[in-house]
Amino acid sequence: MTIQGNANTPRKLLAVFAHPDDETFICGGTFAKYAAEGVEMTLVSATRGEMGRRMGNPPYLNRETMAAAREQELREACACLGIGNLIFFDIRDKTVEFEDERSLEGRIEALIRDIAPDVVLTFHERYGGHPDHCAIGKATTAAFWRSARKGALYFITFGDAMERPERYGYKRKDVVKIDVQAYQSAKLAAFRAHRCQTEIDEWVWLADNEALSRFGRHEYFLKGDVQAAQRANTDLF
Ligand SMILES: [Zn+2]
Repeated sequence: MTIQGNANTPRKLLAVFAHPDDETFICGGTFAKYAAEGVEMTLVSATRGEMGRRMGNPPYLNRETMAAAREQELREACACLGIGNLIFFDIRDKTVEFEDERSLEGRIEALIRDIAPDVVLTFHERYGGHPDHCAIGKATTAAFWRSARKGALYFITFGDAMERPERYGYKRKDVVKIDVQAYQSAKLAAFRAHRCQTEIDEWVWLADNEALSRFGRHEYFLKGDVQAAQRANTDLF
């Protein structure tokens, strides 16, 4: 059994993602769950998502105004999900893969050493689904290995793809499946906070019970290191 933190030493989670909305759309229920359990959470958004294709519905943003709008939306989403600490790396959207790798890894490694998180979350460097996702996942994974790595590393995954992990070369034992049913309202609030990205999705704005029914009950993570491998399959800690 993993030794849990007590009231004097709160458990800590560091998530290193690419864009505003990654945290909500991919694993918002998990953040809300751990916030409710008193976990201290830090989110890095490498960019402000200013190259996003969705510009409101009807469109009211442009490339100049989008970064500030999405930053504000992410702040609101973090409040919905209980993420207390938000950091931007100020990298231009869609250019994370062109950053100097060593320097990016160094920034993330410094954060890991400073925060000493029990859990590090990032994208899988191959299954990230977007070049920025893969690049921030690769840098975070390298930074994790360069750090003292006291915590455990996990990769976020999309939807229920990890119900069939063998398709990606993994086994069921490599997957953490978290029940987030009790936290769907917070997740929906965070979806709505990302207004310029979700306005076009009619289901998000249906009556709460209708919208909530669209969410899957579980969120899935891949274990990324030996520490994670030793932990349960229903909890990141
Ligand atoms: Zn993204």
